[in-house]
Amino acid sequence: MGTKLGTSINGVILEFSSVSDCEISEKMLSVMSGIIKPDVASANGGVAYQLTSVHISSTSEPYFAHKEGGPHRSGNAVDISKVNNKPITTLYANDEEVQILCDALQVAASEDSRTWENFGPLGCFKTYGENRILLSGEKNAGVISMHKTHLHFSVKA
Ligand SMILES: [Zn+2]
Repeated sequence: MGTKLGTSINGVILEFSSVSDCEISEKMLSVMSGIIKPDVASANGGVAYQLTSVHISSTSEPYFAHKEGGPHRSGNAVDISKVNNKPITTLYANDEEVQILCDALQVAASEDSRTWENFGPLGCFKTYGENRILLSGEKNAGVISMHKTHLHFSVKA
């Protein structure tokens, strides 16, 4: 399919859930290499928080919530559930470090035109042709609420 994620990207430690198979496509790895950086947050005005680790909860392993034919199964998506060993689910709302780092990762992902889905607590952004749309409304309520707990980045195959 592609490649196995290693133990770090740009010096940022990668940790994996017990279910993750660590497999991603070369294209996804290339996008991740542009996002996962110690100083990802520094563009947001000299912020002191450095990204030291990310916990990858899911890659391409078979998982019921990740449909066959969807980007995860082909290695074109990655889910991140913790930054600097802090869980996004419980800490994004009230931990400045988690919020700043998560938001910075989503901003960095939005700056790479190859990013297709860029979902997380900051918002769920999806690229349609030349346009990047912020998902909203009843139709997207499930996707939006599901991504309060983790970051999801994908690329088109
Ligand atoms: Zn995902």
